[in-house]
Amino acid sequence: MRAVTQVTVLGGGQLGRMLGLAGIPLGLSFRFLDPSAGAPAGAVGPVVTGALDDLAAATEAAAGATVVTYEWEGVPAETARHLAAIVPVWPPPRALEVAQDRLAEKDACRALGIDTAPYRAVDTRADLDDAVHALGLPAVCKTRSGGYDGKGQHVIRTHADVAVAWDRLGGVPLIVEGFVPFDRELSIIGVRTRDGEIRCWPAVENRHVDGILRVTLAPARGHDDGLQARAEACIVPLLEELRYVGVCCVELFDVGGSLLANEIAPRVHNSGHWTIEGAQTSQFENHLRAVLGWPLGATDPRGPSAMVNCIGGMPEPNAELAVPGAHLHDYGKQPRPGRKVGHVTVTAPDEERRDLALERLQQIVQVD
Ligand code: AMP
Repeated sequence: MRAVTQVTVLGGGQLGRMLGLAGIPLGLSFRFLDPSAGAPAGAVGPVVTGALDDLAAATEAAAGATVVTYEWEGVPAETARHLAAIVPVWPPPRALEVAQDRLAEKDACRALGIDTAPYRAVDTRADLDDAVHALGLPAVCKTRSGGYDGKGQHVIRTHADVAVAWDRLGGVPLIVEGFVPFDRELSIIGVRTRDGEIRCWPAVENRHVDGILRVTLAPARGHDDGLQARAEACIVPLLEELRYVGVCCVELFDVGGSLLANEIAPRVHNSGHWTIEGAQTSQFENHLRAVLGWPLGATDPRGPSAMVNCIGGMPEPNAELAVPGAHLHDYGKQPRPGRKVGHVTVTAPDEERRDLALERLQQIVQVD
């Protein structure tokens, strides 16, 4: 009989929960490490309660695991390295280090020929003035680490905003980027196996409000082989360079068809939730297959789909489920303003019916 394969996931949020939901049919069992005993992943496996930098708790969570993975890019690389001495940890801890530092992230992209916004590292107020002078206005000032969903950043539109940005963010290492006048935001999600095989899902289009993802269209509008090739060129060199194993996402700006990389997420990603119903194999299942050394599943879409995030609260299931092709995901989280508590994916035979379903869904789920 096959021995039980246990996957330990660092972080027990909705991404961990969806990894569990994908892995249980494969015969996997899960254990999570999370600071909250009531973490959403508790529905699919036991949660060891502890901070992600608590090495004793992390070791306890990893006991008996075939592989350790993570569902949050904020996991301290030290925790991942500590566990890697005991059990395989994928994606590699180096990917965490790169993704946790916006400067390292952009340097890594540039070194591989992947375009980004122009940027400057800023440590002092004088650096900030120099960066604004060099890059021009508007510009975006961001903390190098710790920022997410638009937090830890400030758009500098006028010279008077420079002091405001410094007051709000100064004192920690910063990066200033030229403001990209993008036409739309896209993302590309890829998966790499231990043997170096890489597959990507179709590039998708993402709409954010206040820095938080609201809607994903999959594939992106006007998707064609050329767009896919340009998007894959923004992730494949990174996966190879990092000797990456598992699923990774690169968020992109589309400027007149040219793509710039904005952010690397070394984990399953919100803009890939549509793959659960909308692709031959979901990002969650392929992540597990990759980290376990199993063959990958096909990443082709089953048809057009769209995903809408439920932010701050879940609407009535009755209303959502009446939308044709709707698939509801409630993360079991306490509602709070600005908090992602669920999502709904609509799948349809063609874009027209997808758009109609999306329109209905957006009347039910408050999008902005
Ligand atoms: P981030 O935290 O880097 O993902 O940024 C959050 C959001 O801010 C992005 O999804 C964009 O909508 C916007 N943004 C970030 N950086 C830039 C930039 N350099 N130019 C224009 N918009 C940006």
